[in-house]
Amino acid sequence: MIEQRSIKTDPSRIRDILAKSLELQDLTLSEISELLALDDAELWPVVFDAARRVKEKVYGRRVVLFAPLYLSNECLNDCLYCGFRKGNRDAVRKTLAIDEAVQEASLLAKRGYRRLLLVASEHNKLMGIGYFEKVVEAIYRETDIRILHMNSAPMSVDDFKRLKAAGVGVYQCFQETYHIPTYRYMHEKGSKADYAWRLSAMDRAVEAGFEDIGMGVLLGLYDWRWEVGALMAHSRRLINKYGFGPHTISVPRLQPAQGSRLNDWPNRVSDEDLRKIVAIYRLALPYVGVVVSTREHAEIRDELLLIGASQVSAGSKTSPLGYVDHGDTEQFETGDKRSLEEVIVKIAELGLMPSLCTACYREGRSGEMFRDLAQNQAMKGICHTNALLSLKEYIEDNASEDVKEKLERVLKAEIPENSTGLPDKFRLIEEGKRDIHV
Ligand code: SAM
Ligand code: SF4
Repeated sequence: MIEQRSIKTDPSRIRDILAKSLELQDLTLSEISELLALDDAELWPVVFDAARRVKEKVYGRRVVLFAPLYLSNECLNDCLYCGFRKGNRDAVRKTLAIDEAVQEASLLAKRGYRRLLLVASEHNKLMGIGYFEKVVEAIYRETDIRILHMNSAPMSVDDFKRLKAAGVGVYQCFQETYHIPTYRYMHEKGSKADYAWRLSAMDRAVEAGFEDIGMGVLLGLYDWRWEVGALMAHSRRLINKYGFGPHTISVPRLQPAQGSRLNDWPNRVSDEDLRKIVAIYRLALPYVGVVVSTREHAEIRDELLLIGASQVSAGSKTSPLGYVDHGDTEQFETGDKRSLEEVIVKIAELGLMPSLCTACYREGRSGEMFRDLAQNQAMKGICHTNALLSLKEYIEDNASEDVKEKLERVLKAEIPENSTGLPDKFRLIEEGKRDIHV
């Protein structure tokens, strides 16, 4: 663990930084370092509140929901922390056949999901780009899933082009750790041992045409302040080079995994640190989607939504065939076991707006264009309307009888007085029209 030097905080300086972020301007690396070094317990609530307000300015109250779909747990790498690592002899291995991936996706679509994140271990013999293309094409053809994102090992530019052409929205890949000695220790074997290949993944994805890229560090491998600073530096480099940075930043926190070889865990990230990390990402890049997975327990997830997180997975399983069957070996233990419906209801109770919207990808709102719309506060209205329309569709098609009435009341409270537009659109949905969005 690196020693943290205590730096005297100037509260007025911190307030200036927060004011800049509230004007939806990206923070500089030196401003981000000042937040990372902030050691004044009285100022942190002010920072959390600013993060909440920045999120509200950009996205309003909407919270995007999705689920991961694990394609395989057969892996040629040996990342010390992961249950899928090659050396885990106790793991029960499985790679989904195309029709099994479709089965998983249709079951999720029946539960109400419209956006899935495909997650794959790394095994080039079992899962080349041809396999991914077939999976994506079959899910779009045979299910009501409207957008697929992908978290997989880094690819060549040519393979990224094929992935993009297949219709994948966001390409997501976590650097795990930017700290080279820690990276080497954690990833001794397999192609993932190549730090530079992973570090340059986003450049190749952008070169191949991906404008929406998802980044993150695996929190707990090394000092979190150092890692967050490094991820921000990486993002800044991408912004300077391409005009846009990450579309999403995830905050995966290391979890126990069956078969993990990580016994020594000195850089554990506390709940309080996780709150700080979410707030700093939100303030540093106001337009970024901050994603929290079901690695985290329910209470902290609900709290993070109130200080900057804008997307959450729900009802997740982390093993291939985990939805239709009990699944085989999981990647790690999940902390939040609530169903999609329970999370939807909770988000509404928090005064936020659950959203199953997928409009931006199909309307071409990506990369620099998305960022400009967000910075001009235009996304807020678009997102809110689409959240309501997607919730109405959920009520019609997927909600259980127990919650329909409750969610209808939530919708009703959102209809502005004398508005005809929304009630008309709701009526169209009741009559069977689907995928209405702006
Ligand atoms: N196999 C690909 C790779 O490693 O990039 C992508 C999929 S991997 C299944 C997705 C992410 O899960 C990894 O990038 C890592 O950050 C995270 N992960 C692995 N083991 C974990 C654990 N024990 N707890 C929390 N997250 C973990
Ligand atoms: Fe394989 Fe990814 Fe797990 Fe590493 S993190 S063992 S590459 S699935």
